[in-house]
Amino acid sequence: MTLATDRPAAPTITHHFRLFIDGRFVDAASGETFDSINPTTNEPFARVAKAGREDVEAAVRAARRAFDEGPWPRMSPAERKRILYRIADGIEARADELARLESIDMGKPITEAREKDVPRAALNFRFFADYAALSHTEMYEQRSIGVLTYTLREPRGVALLITPWNFPLMLETWKVAPALAFGNTAILKPASASPATANVLMEICAEAGLPEGVLNLVYGDGETVGMALVEHPGVDLISLTGESSTGKRIAAAAAGTLKKLSFELGGKSASIVFADADLDVALPGSLDAIFRNQGEVCLAGSRLLVQRPIYDEFVARYVDGARAYRVGDPLDPATQIGPLVSPGHWERVRRYVGIGVAEGGTLLTGGDRPAGPAFERGNFFAPTVIGDVRPEHRVFQEEIFGPVQVVTPFDTVEDAIRLANDSRYGLAGMVWTTNLDTAHRVAAGVRTGTMWVNCFFVRDLRVPFGGFRESGTGREGGKWSEDFFTESKSVVLKLRA
Ligand code: NAD
Repeated sequence: MTLATDRPAAPTITHHFRLFIDGRFVDAASGETFDSINPTTNEPFARVAKAGREDVEAAVRAARRAFDEGPWPRMSPAERKRILYRIADGIEARADELARLESIDMGKPITEAREKDVPRAALNFRFFADYAALSHTEMYEQRSIGVLTYTLREPRGVALLITPWNFPLMLETWKVAPALAFGNTAILKPASASPATANVLMEICAEAGLPEGVLNLVYGDGETVGMALVEHPGVDLISLTGESSTGKRIAAAAAGTLKKLSFELGGKSASIVFADADLDVALPGSLDAIFRNQGEVCLAGSRLLVQRPIYDEFVARYVDGARAYRVGDPLDPATQIGPLVSPGHWERVRRYVGIGVAEGGTLLTGGDRPAGPAFERGNFFAPTVIGDVRPEHRVFQEEIFGPVQVVTPFDTVEDAIRLANDSRYGLAGMVWTTNLDTAHRVAAGVRTGTMWVNCFFVRDLRVPFGGFRESGTGREGGKWSEDFFTESKSVVLKLRA
């Protein structure tokens, strides 16, 4: 294969990911590329086409034409469903390849990719295909004046879908599937740190018979390529998952063209353990809430609040639990914690541990690279627990996005709610208790988009997903995705008397 670059390929480069525009894989018009790094070795494993202005124009033109003139928005939801189901089948057929690529690309343990992310990607397509096909609208009769009024749902137009690197395929399909199911056309802009599985998704979509131009893929960094798409007048709506600061930048830039926006942003969720909790549930659950996916999880329970009577005992067991995690090569099926996405992110997480200790926290375990030659090249970080953290500490307030838990004691239900709400975020939360009243009081009192009682990460795609405060704007999931990805229209019909 000829690479669109004048640089020789590094010996470790095994993949070449190109843009996907108007149904064809193409190099960037400029021929520019960037390398995607395998975080286990920090060597490049893929060369990726880097879009510029011309490619952005081509992608918008293709998506625009497919929307304004093409068959996709004009098909019935049932017709679209047939193709979306084929995409889900294609994802399942290539599940092993997708899981492996995800691990190599961003360090996710392969077992998690294979058992959770890939099946969920297929489910995203089937769920929204079904949802759109079963969708219904309202009709009202005003008999006394001979009027029938009904509503129609219409696709909004060209959707720009901007995604982060921590759950690449899962979050890309969480946006692509509803955008397409409700009849829009789309441009996907994945994070540059995790370009791989989006490329395979395009192949699967093309093989499933998705018409040309309906889904386009553009790689490049947020500040240039992302921003050019955000500002483009040919784009009608934007769904972003990313940092809260990115949401603010995009909201400001999109204001000029009043695009419709839906943002799923950062989090610093409280995982609240009451003294009456079933510790056999609360302990593994609250460990999973921070250490799953190396802590690179927006929904992570990254502030552990423990009721004072069990604080010492629980924290001691928690530290033992953290130490028991298997850190290692993400391609090893036994690995539970892979490397962090990049050396820069590793430095950031390490810096936060230093800040936490300097502010008065007690480092109880971890805090650095695990010892041993297996961990020298990759961005491995030991599961870390910092005790005695107070609400005014930066590590209590700021999203670290790594395997770092901070622990704070509390006394009463009111204390727990006050501490949980002491945050600019409001994405999720967990409460661990056997007392139903406590569970309900906490669930009702914490200002957050999702509250889990005695569990974590369980999702029903019919319910609203999103955040309070700086964790997002709007909601997606079920009818909330339908609201975002469609315009509703009222038709008022006067009958002859
Ligand atoms: P990020 O905000 O740096 O990047 C997200 C995406 O936005 C990338 O594709 C990036 O290229 C693009 N982008 C960045 N600046 C842009 C700009 N000015 N214009 C247009 N596009 C731009 O986030 P990240 O580091 O990839 O992901 C981690 C963050 O995502 C964390 O804050 C995490 O909490 C959040 N996240 C939230 C959810 C959720 O559902 N709420 C899920 C996963 C991750």
